[in-house]
Amino acid sequence: MGGFGAVVTMPNTDPPCDSLDVMQQQISLRKEAMAAAGKPLPVIMPACAMTKRRAGREPVDFAELIKAGCVLFTDDGDDVADDDVLRAVMLRFIDAYGETSIDTARPRLMFHAQSKEMMHGGVMHEGAVSVRLGVPGIPRESEDMAVERAVRFGLVFHLPVHITHVTTMGAVEIIRRGKDAYAAAGLKGYLTSDVTSHHLTFTDEDVEWLGALAKSNPPLREAFDRDALRAGLLGGTIDCIATDHAPHTAGEKSQGLMDAPFGITGLEIALSASLNAIGGGMEKAARVLRALTGGPSALIGAQKSAGVLAESTLANLCVYDPAEEWRVEPSQFAGKCKVSPYAGMMLRGRIKAVILSGALAWGELPGAEGAV
Ligand SMILES: [Zn+2]
Repeated sequence: MGGFGAVVTMPNTDPPCDSLDVMQQQISLRKEAMAAAGKPLPVIMPACAMTKRRAGREPVDFAELIKAGCVLFTDDGDDVADDDVLRAVMLRFIDAYGETSIDTARPRLMFHAQSKEMMHGGVMHEGAVSVRLGVPGIPRESEDMAVERAVRFGLVFHLPVHITHVTTMGAVEIIRRGKDAYAAAGLKGYLTSDVTSHHLTFTDEDVEWLGALAKSNPPLREAFDRDALRAGLLGGTIDCIATDHAPHTAGEKSQGLMDAPFGITGLEIALSASLNAIGGGMEKAARVLRALTGGPSALIGAQKSAGVLAESTLANLCVYDPAEEWRVEPSQFAGKCKVSPYAGMMLRGRIKAVILSGALAWGELPGAEGAV
């Protein structure tokens, strides 16, 4: 329903996706679901952990996982805190990397760049709002310093690094300068980043009335951060829009700001929400579309399965009505998560149909029967 033809799943599952077994289990779950549904489903490209059990101590078997097709490695949910472990990860990754053919996508190390030490048990952005609400805050430095560190590590080891869910103005600036430094070192395209549709939309002010529904890790920041994220996306510092899809149940999210789990569901409304956040104009819309399609597709090597519309290839596309105005009703989401900070929000533009592998996967195309 969100229009996606391929999705990258994060490894912070139980058990964590840190081995060939778990990776292949995810891929076969999709095949089983597809057989049960009797229609095509989005391709799943699992990201694998950087360290075994995502414990931040021992690198995974990169060679085996790259050979099996994994192109993104991350301990998402956490950063690899120990410098010496991260160095070992990079060295092991270099060994494995040598065995890949570079005509496919370059495997990348993806960072949930956040210093746990500096999180201080926070439940939202540290600032005027967290003070007003009397709850512990997560300072912006926890992200800025960790992004600086990941960017530096990639530069030192000449490795492709992706920073996921960027939230601060400082991080955008560090990545902008980092891209220049990588290019100067002959590593153009090695440093990439993404932003989520909710960080493009909301700020910490919204946490005051949305409570746990707007509890996200990394947190929603201040208005000037959100503006820097929007500018970073339009200017090309930020390459992709991601969802950081975290489908928590209404029960989990009803536990209040302090106790509810972090995370926001995003898959079903990412396209409309991103286009609404960035605003009108064909040029801006084209940039948003690229950040949701060709941008990430090129990064993860999904071209064969997604992101390309050409003769003699099977179509993966979604049909979008840019004029339809609609109210977000989470009770109508297809996913198991029926709560959202977007609840009740009016959005302009809505997905009408999704075509995967040349067949109608969801929605209706009136008058186009047999044309697909
Ligand atoms: Zn994360």
